[in-house]
Amino acid sequence: MISEDYLPISRINQFVYCPRRFWLVFIEDSMQIDTQVLEGIVTHKVVHANSADSNRCTNLSVVSHRLKITGLIDVAEPILGGFRIIEHKRGSVQAWENDQVQITAQAIAFEETTSAQVLEGSVFSWRSRRRDDFVITPELREQVEVVVQSMVDLLTTGMRPAPIQEKHKCKNCSVRDVCQPTLVQKINRRTSQP
Ligand code: SF4
Repeated sequence: MISEDYLPISRINQFVYCPRRFWLVFIEDSMQIDTQVLEGIVTHKVVHANSADSNRCTNLSVVSHRLKITGLIDVAEPILGGFRIIEHKRGSVQAWENDQVQITAQAIAFEETTSAQVLEGSVFSWRSRRRDDFVITPELREQVEVVVQSMVDLLTTGMRPAPIQEKHKCKNCSVRDVCQPTLVQKINRRTSQP
């Protein structure tokens, strides 16, 4: 049985991108429905509607009771010796780790749900029509365990995290106006001075 305290796997992606963003979007409900967000929702609906290939599983619900995470997989396709999990993204494929950690979490939940093994993950960009494959390594699996524990710890403290110091991420963040990272960092610097 899936209880309410199971973490949605999509939130792992947000947390790895920025813990403060995760908090603002999911705990304080500050997500602004802008064109980027709408495009993302439409992309996933199109993927799930175009599921004619009988070798692939699409729109698959998975759960890991061990990690207490649950989510939906866009595509699981059979490859030699196991499966590849494919996540469809609206924008260009980014070099950030959040997508890989999310897909590895999906892989762990897929394995627990089906008893099949996942060997690879892949991010498909609808904008560039590019697909980036990667190996699901033991290091990525370990990172999922650490991230899930960090999310549980953060939820237990109940405190909004500070802004991150990565301007390239803030530039593309849809909750930047609510977050005000530069202003908050300035205030935090002043209040921490003796
Ligand atoms: S603006 Fe930057 S610090 Fe604020 S939530 Fe977005 S990524 Fe995080």
